[in-house]
Amino acid sequence: MTGAAEELTMQIAQVVPCTEAEGPGKRFALWFQGCPLRCPGCCNPEFLSFKGGSTKTLREMTDEIQQARDESGVEGITLLGGEPTAHAPAALALARRSRELETTLFWFASGFTVEELREKADPNVLELIELTDILVDGPYIREQPDTERRWIGSRNQRIHFLTPRYSYDEQWRTKNTLEIRVVGREITVNGFPAANAVGLWKGWRRKKPIPLPVAPETKRSPEETDAK
Ligand code: SF4
Repeated sequence: MTGAAEELTMQIAQVVPCTEAEGPGKRFALWFQGCPLRCPGCCNPEFLSFKGGSTKTLREMTDEIQQARDESGVEGITLLGGEPTAHAPAALALARRSRELETTLFWFASGFTVEELREKADPNVLELIELTDILVDGPYIREQPDTERRWIGSRNQRIHFLTPRYSYDEQWRTKNTLEIRVVGREITVNGFPAANAVGLWKGWRRKKPIPLPVAPETKRSPEETDAK
């Protein structure tokens, strides 16, 4: 890729460099900042606005993915929403990079079905589909929580295995998982919660900074006062 292509920018809401809660194996998960849709019960309302998040270049994201692959053994990248197709040039650049790095690509098009995506005839989206190993499509429907298929939000959503690299094997038939990380004062929660727990942690995330623990106050006797 040319130097200019490496400087392509993308708006990123969140990155989890190594997770097992966003698809098969260890994965580098990336949430775009911004979605034009408003699915009731969306897990990530703070990722809907197109303002916010961090602006990253393709070069920076490549460095992060390479580091995760080399240090943690991630086998693939997972793209999540904010809706990835609302960031199609960036999503495509990451998909091409995923192929170059020999990692797999899994993405959630929770705003659309694959037929709707193909009908749009956006060349970026069409090539993105070509480079994808697993695509989950269809809107997230809060009233239809999926408790049978791991990594899937609601029962209407379909899994498309677009290459032979993955199939619907045993690991898809286990319970969904949620990962909670506390790094310093930051809490990151990802994965798929039980339907009645969606968003419960959002209050924690917004209440920042998290107060650090303080030593209990010691009562001093009158003799110990500083008064002279
Ligand atoms: S498409 Fe995804 S990010 Fe957008 S509102 Fe629906 S669930 Fe939320």
